[in-house]
Amino acid sequence: MTSTARPHLNRRLAEFGTTIFAEMSALAVQTGSINLGQGFPDTDGPEEIREAAVRALRDGRGNQYPPGPGIPELRTAIAAHQQRRYGLTYDPDTQVLVTAGATEAIAAALLALLEPGDEVIAFEPYYDSYAACIAMAGGTRVPVTLRPHEGRFRLDLDELRDAVTDRTRLLLINTPHNPTGTVLTREELTAIAELAVERDLLVVTDEVYEHLVFDDAEHLPLATFPGMRDRTVSIGSAGKTFSFTGWKVGWATGSPSLVSAVRSAKQFLTYVSSGPFQYAVAEALALPDTYFTAFREDMRVKRDLLAAGLAEAGFEVFRTAGTYFITTDIRPLGAALSHEGDGFAFCRALPEQAGVVAIPNAVFYDHREAGAPFVRFAFCKQTSVLEEAAKRLRTLADRGQTPGA
Ligand SMILES: *Cc1c(COP(=O)(O)O)cnc(C)c1O
Repeated sequence: MTSTARPHLNRRLAEFGTTIFAEMSALAVQTGSINLGQGFPDTDGPEEIREAAVRALRDGRGNQYPPGPGIPELRTAIAAHQQRRYGLTYDPDTQVLVTAGATEAIAAALLALLEPGDEVIAFEPYYDSYAACIAMAGGTRVPVTLRPHEGRFRLDLDELRDAVTDRTRLLLINTPHNPTGTVLTREELTAIAELAVERDLLVVTDEVYEHLVFDDAEHLPLATFPGMRDRTVSIGSAGKTFSFTGWKVGWATGSPSLVSAVRSAKQFLTYVSSGPFQYAVAEALALPDTYFTAFREDMRVKRDLLAAGLAEAGFEVFRTAGTYFITTDIRPLGAALSHEGDGFAFCRALPEQAGVVAIPNAVFYDHREAGAPFVRFAFCKQTSVLEEAAKRLRTLADRGQTPGA
């Protein structure tokens, strides 16, 4: 046997060969469609923060390897942010770690904290890197399905409790939740915290949308709940909060021993990253509340614009309490237009049919049938783009009323 006779991609990663985003983005280009698939803003973050990055670069700050845990200015700014927002006190030197986006923080946490065979409970639908990172760490993922209930996706607490076994090591939690737009409630978080304490579990929480919560929803970090401080790694990112997803500046906070463990894995992944951008993000985190309020309000208006368009087109629209995304149910469009409720077939046809690209939520599930009729649209786009998308989608409603459409 030669080294080419065996598949090159190993068994751990075989199921993660390609992502849906590549296929759908290619389809968007081919058909000239509006791409509401991938979740990145089409407007860059604050000018003054971009200027701060330019200044750092020109002044020779961060052009060489920054310190392993991140520059002190940024670690101090992250600690101050956690203190000001949530009353969580962290020592910038031992309890804060800067990473190459939240993606690296998640990967490093799982690689550091799991032994092969450890079970990790994560909600499905889940962010696409979770399954791959659990696999790379040799862990076993155990999905708990979020299901629609009274217009939002909800956690079934009994199902969560039943999913815990003697092999469970870690809960991987994401709130505000991508792709469903759900923000876990105080009741849900209290139950998660009680379970973690009772079964002595570690918790990794992905809070990259902490500043994108709407209406009366509130982001409550799990680390603030009783018994959670020393068992929780909290993860944030400048990408979503400041509309600089290309900068890849993220962070993890937690107890000194957890952060030191995550750092051990992180140092052999990227070692360090994003030098000059770290200086700019330190300034961004210190922006006045008016920035965060205006950003949230701007995104709320975008959410409402797209939600109205989707509802008029005939989708069932689930309430987005947080994130960049709206999840819809395609079945009310009718069997023909919704491809019998098959989100994959629907999303492959939508660019031709309406000139819009969306993502089938089924790709974020292990139990694909549970996610089959759900489709995700991103609203972190310019108003004119969302208006045009809504106009195009409305043509589905007309077609739904035409016999034989
Ligand atoms: C975008 C996103 C990430 C990745 O964040 P980066 O800082 O770009 O690495 C992680 N988790 C969720 C839920 C996301 O939507």
